[in-house]
Amino acid sequence: MENKPSILTQRYEIGRLLGQGTFAKVYYARNIITNQSVAIKLIDKEKVLRVGLMDQIKREISVMRLVRHPYILQLFEVLATKSKIYYVMEYAKGGELFDMVSKGKLKEDVARKYFQQLINAVDFCHSRGVYHRDIKPENLLLDENKNLKVSDFGLSALAESKRHDGLLHTTCGTPAYVAPEVINRKGYDGAKADIWSCGVVLFVLLAGYLPFHDSNLMELYRKIGKAEFKCPNWFPSEVRRLLSKILDPNPNTRISMAKIKDSSWFRKRLKSKQKITETEDKDGDSPDTDASGPCSTSSIEAEQELVQLSNLNAFDIISLSAGFDLSGLFEDNSRKRESRFASRQPASVIVSKLVEIAKRLRLNAKKEDGGFLKFEGAKEGRKGILSIDAEIFELAKSFYMVEMRKSNGDTLEYQKILKEDIRPGLQDIVWVWQDEQEQQPQQLQQQQQIQEQES
Ligand code: AMP
Repeated sequence: MENKPSILTQRYEIGRLLGQGTFAKVYYARNIITNQSVAIKLIDKEKVLRVGLMDQIKREISVMRLVRHPYILQLFEVLATKSKIYYVMEYAKGGELFDMVSKGKLKEDVARKYFQQLINAVDFCHSRGVYHRDIKPENLLLDENKNLKVSDFGLSALAESKRHDGLLHTTCGTPAYVAPEVINRKGYDGAKADIWSCGVVLFVLLAGYLPFHDSNLMELYRKIGKAEFKCPNWFPSEVRRLLSKILDPNPNTRISMAKIKDSSWFRKRLKSKQKITETEDKDGDSPDTDASGPCSTSSIEAEQELVQLSNLNAFDIISLSAGFDLSGLFEDNSRKRESRFASRQPASVIVSKLVEIAKRLRLNAKKEDGGFLKFEGAKEGRKGILSIDAEIFELAKSFYMVEMRKSNGDTLEYQKILKEDIRPGLQDIVWVWQDEQEQQPQQLQQQQQIQEQES
C-alpha cells in the first residue's frame, strides 16, 4: 500500500512513482495552479530520525538552496508533516542519463557534453563549499532538452549513511564510483573524491561499461585502490591522458577541477554553430547527433551570470523559505521573528565582530556552548534588561548563518540598536542579510493543511 497523499497543500496533485531510494520515494506531481510538472521526494522522518540524521538534513536542505545552477536539479520548496518531509523538485523528464548508456556507449561529442555539464555543476557546488560525495548514475538525470540535472546535491550525508548502515549496505550496490580514499575511510577531501567519481562517469559514458568491476568486492576494492583500469582501444589519446590524471589513486596528486577545465579534450570546440543552449530540441537534433549548446563559451558566460545571480538571490535561501527557517517545518511555527545573515568569514571573525559591537554598545558578551553568544545590557530598560542571543550555524564549509534574536527587554529598544548599530557594524562580515519580511501567514497555513493518508 502506498503511503502518499494524492494532493499536497492543495497545490500538488501527486501521480506515479518515479523511483525509490532507501529513505525516500520520488513521485511525479503537477502543480494544480500553474500546471508545472514537478517531482516530489517523500522522505520518511522516522527512518531519518532513527539513523540520527535529522539535523544534517535540515542543514543540507538550506545548503541545497545555495546551489542554483542550470545543471543541478532545483529544489523548489520543502514541506513537512509530523511523519514526512516532502522535497518539491524540478522534474527531470528525460530520466536517468545511464538509461541512454545502457543502450550503448555515447559518441565522443555527446559524452564530452555531459562530462562538461557535470564538471561545471560539480565545480560550481565546490565553489559554494558543497560536495556531492555520491555521484553515481541514479543521481545523473536529464531534462526535456537532454541536458544534465545532477540530483541529491547536499544530501550526501544521507547517501553516506546508506553506506555506513550495515543493513542497507547491500541495497547500495557497487562502490564502483567511489574514490579509493573514501573506501579506505581515511577522511577525505570532498572535492577530490567528487573528481574521481566524475572520472568514472566519463569512462562509462565513452566505454559503455565500468572501469572497475569485479564480482568479488575485495578484488574490486583492490582494483580501485590501485586505479587498475584499462581504456578500450577507441578512447582517443587525449581522453586516456585526462582519465589517468583523474583516476589517480592519490588524492593529493589527482588533477584539480581547474586543470580538467583547462585540458584540451574538455575545451575542444564543439562542431556545431555554438548557438547557446536549447538548440537541440528546436533544431530537432537528438543528443546523439549534435552536442552543441551548454558548454559553448556563451553558455559558460551564462553560467557565470547565474553565479552572480545566485549571489544576489542568496536570501532566496532564507527569505523564501520554509527551507531555511526549518523551525517552521519541524517544530511549531510560532517562533518570534529573528534576524539572520549569512557570512563567508570564519566563525572566529564573526564572533570577534559581534563581541566588538557588543562592547561598543556596552553590552556584556558571554560565549556559551554550541556557537551560542549572549549579550546583556548593564542596566534595566523599560522592560527589563535587554538581552540578545546570537547563534552561529555552519551551513557548509566556510559558510555560516548567524541568527540573532531578542530574548529579553524592550522590542523597540532592540530594533533601534539592531538598525542603527548592529547591522551597520556588521557590514564588513555580512554576505547578505535576510529579507526582513515576516513569513507569510498563508504559507504557514498551507504547511498545516498538508493532507496525509497514512495507511
Ligand atoms: P533518489 O532517491 O533521489 O536517488 O531517486 C530515486 C530515483 O527517482 C532516481 O534514480 C530517478 O530515477 C528518480 N528521480 C529522482 N528525482 C527525480 C526527478 N526530479 N525527476 C525525475 N525522476 C527523478
